[in-house]
Amino acid sequence: MSVIRDREKKRAMDSCIFCDILANKLPSSLVYCDDLCSAFMDIQPVNPGHVLVIPNKHAASLADLDEDTGAHMFRVAQRIAAALRKSGVKCEGVNLFIADGEAAGQDVFHVHLHIFPRFSGDGFGFTFGPTYTVKTSRQSLDEWAEKIRSVL
Ligand code: AMP
Ligand code: ZN
Repeated sequence: MSVIRDREKKRAMDSCIFCDILANKLPSSLVYCDDLCSAFMDIQPVNPGHVLVIPNKHAASLADLDEDTGAHMFRVAQRIAAALRKSGVKCEGVNLFIADGEAAGQDVFHVHLHIFPRFSGDGFGFTFGPTYTVKTSRQSLDEWAEKIRSVL
C-alpha cells in the first residue's frame, strides 16, 4: 500500500499540471480563487460546466491535505454547485466527486474535487461489482465500523 502511495507522491512531485496551472504556466478557465483554493473548468468535462476545486498548496492525496483546507474546498464546492444551477448550463442535479488514489481512479496527483452538472440521460454513471446487490450482515457492518472507529 505505501509503495503505491510513494509512487503516486513521486509522480506528483516530478511534475504537477495543477501546480503549473496555479503558476500560470498552463492555461485555465478560472471560476474562483482565494487564499486557500482555486477552481477552474475541467478540460475534459463529464458534462458542460464541470469544475475542479483544488488546494493552492500542493497535496497529492487527501492524507496530505490539511483539514481546514479540505473543509474550505467543500464550502467553495457547495457555492459552485449552487452557481451551476443558476448559470444556464444544463443542470438537473450535481455530483461532487473525489478520486483519492490510483485504485480510486485518480489521474492527477494534486487533490481535486470534481463538481459537475447532471441531467437525465447524460450517460454518466457508476458501475458496480457483482456483490453490490447483496445486503451485508449487521455483524459485518459493526465489525467494519469498529475497525474504522478505532483509528479515527
Ligand atoms: P481524476 O481522474 O479524478 O484525477 O481527474 C483529473 C481531471 O483533471 C480529469 O477530469 C481531467 O479532465 C482534468 N484535467 C487534466 N488536465 C487538465 C487541464 N490542463 N485543465 C483542466 N482540467 C484538466
Ligand atoms: Zn500540484
